[in-house]
Amino acid sequence: MTTERLGLVVAGIPVEVVRKAIKNLHLGVYPPHGRVRVAAPLVISDEAVRLAVIDKLGWIRRQQAKFAAQPRQSQREMVTGESHYFLGRRYRLRVHEQDAPPRVALRGIASLDLFVRPGTPAEQREAVLLRWYREQLKALIPPLLEKWQPLLGVQVAAWGIKRMKTKWGSCNPTARRVWFNLELAKKPVPCLEYILVHELAHLLERHHNERFAALVAAHVPQWRQYRELLGQAPLGYEEGWAG
Ligand SMILES: [Zn+2]
Repeated sequence: MTTERLGLVVAGIPVEVVRKAIKNLHLGVYPPHGRVRVAAPLVISDEAVRLAVIDKLGWIRRQQAKFAAQPRQSQREMVTGESHYFLGRRYRLRVHEQDAPPRVALRGIASLDLFVRPGTPAEQREAVLLRWYREQLKALIPPLLEKWQPLLGVQVAAWGIKRMKTKWGSCNPTARRVWFNLELAKKPVPCLEYILVHELAHLLERHHNERFAALVAAHVPQWRQYRELLGQAPLGYEEGWAG
């Protein structure tokens, strides 16, 4: 398959066009800087490509604005001195290499000690920390469920923790299953609690309508404050937070 690369500028926006033996035109905006790339079928004219981009200008600008507004944490190297967050508090990472099973421990109010075997690569060091975050959330969530389920008059059938790119939590009301984003371990507990109430409220109201908003506001009057805390801080490992 032959490909031809061509640069196009549409309304001041540089567009990378790649010609391919494909059927449909694909337009994408990519992090971190909102690069625009079009994969176009060989048979479509340059003018048609340009029109397709113009057609999507509003969407492209919105995507680019989203990337620009999103403060990103730099790629973590998991070395001593880095800042890492736990329950809304910033800790200084201290990496200790020792020949023992890996573990994480908080030291005082400012240090997060990561114990790993000598030569453990950054990715695995991060995995140790993520596993620790997961354990902490697993311990934090059950008492919150015990508190809020009776208050809302609902009961989940199952709940879990996973990494999600764009959501802090999710709920399948039919299955009565709730998921929490692993990143919540980095946020203050009231933020976790707010997300938990939000997801439980979906067991009573599936949609984000007025009834739903009233339900959440009745139980978490300061929800705006928590949503702001969740919205402004870097999500950590991904680009966006869709709300
Ligand atoms: Zn929701």
